Amino acid sequence: MQNTTRQTRENRTLTVDFQNEATYFQLLGDGKAFLECVLAFILSLGFQLKHKATCDGGGCLTRHSHYVRVRLGGVTIWRIQCTTCRAVFTVLPHFILRYRQMRPEVARDVLLATHGGLSLELCAVIHHISPMALYRLVCALGHQGLVTVLTRCELPLPVYVLADEKHSRCLTDKVYLPTIVSGRAIWHLGYTTEASAAAFTQSYGAFQRAAVHQEPSYRVKGVLTDGFDSTTKSLRTLFPGVRVGICLRHALLKLPKKLVAITSPVRKALRTQFHTLWYRARQRKGLRVFALGQRLRHFADHVATTAGGANGERVRRWFQDKKAGWYTVLADPQMPATSTLLDQAHNTIERKLFAMKGFHHPGGSQEAFLTGLAHLYNLIPYQRRAQHAGQCGVEVEGGHVPTQDWMLNLQILTSGGFR
Ligand SMILES: [Zn+2]
Repeated sequence: MQNTTRQTRENRTLTVDFQNEATYFQLLGDGKAFLECVLAFILSLGFQLKHKATCDGGGCLTRHSHYVRVRLGGVTIWRIQCTTCRAVFTVLPHFILRYRQMRPEVARDVLLATHGGLSLELCAVIHHISPMALYRLVCALGHQGLVTVLTRCELPLPVYVLADEKHSRCLTDKVYLPTIVSGRAIWHLGYTTEASAAAFTQSYGAFQRAAVHQEPSYRVKGVLTDGFDSTTKSLRTLFPGVRVGICLRHALLKLPKKLVAITSPVRKALRTQFHTLWYRARQRKGLRVFALGQRLRHFADHVATTAGGANGERVRRWFQDKKAGWYTVLADPQMPATSTLLDQAHNTIERKLFAMKGFHHPGGSQEAFLTGLAHLYNLIPYQRRAQHAGQCGVEVEGGHVPTQDWMLNLQILTSGGFR
């Protein structure tokens, strides 16, 4: 984790789509037309510029200064300035990445390959770049937060979420990735070296702070977890009054582990009956909670009769421990009932964490890298044969992306100059 706080100038970069390079070079010679083009583009996005705090943004913008990117064949980059607050914005044409020599078409290929699970080393073979250059590119994308980017896509802050930690390794040490998902969008992907409630509170707190910064009255109503104590504690600390539910699918998966020393047919039969119990409980809307309590008691009795007293008692204690979390899921129809979508997100990130191995050391930029990967997860469209073919996660959740081109969207949405 990067602990050093670097004092950098405010990032006020604006990625602007000039359609083609020739147009850009033509506009360089005409200050008025250049500014008009930039302003028209910003207007088309519906974004505001990040002026200084004291400025209402009502002033004029002028061309301020320019510099030449030598390593990119001498491309001239213009800066524009607000005449009121003197904030300076760097206008990056779409064919240039911030601080990078890499061309966006190269970045597009290697990011797509990274997202698909190819190792950083092999992604770097696709084009003649170093794996480190790719790692730094992903980190650079990750410097813009997930909440900022997702709300720029007009997604409302999530009221019901799934939260869980992915277990991973940094060299030989165990590490944890606290994650918040709503539908197909990742809202938080953090990094901790401990599984304590305090460590998770700090990580999930980064999401909470970013969200409250966007919307001061924001609060989470419901969260689904797999019932881990540190997770529950940290979420209750951050979101007082939140309803914490426990994933119903995990309940089904866990049952066989509670039944020991019985024959396979008996275990299978009990699992089927347990499945039916949940199915019925979810069908009966109004009386769901009451019905569940009764059914769980009957089921534990049934286990005692068919699989012996010890198994019956173990199942009864397990129900006692988890039932409040299950009730919570059934009591609120808007609560997600299973954590499947979170598991999918974790599986996707898992492949990339393996790819990260060569760079995984305690001094790495883990948080920025993970956030960058989460941006790819949210903004790269699903492949042609997928259920939501051609749409990205943000669009599936009802958000809007600035253009039809995911790479351009990534550049625009992670630009620091927009508000
Ligand atoms: Zn201003």
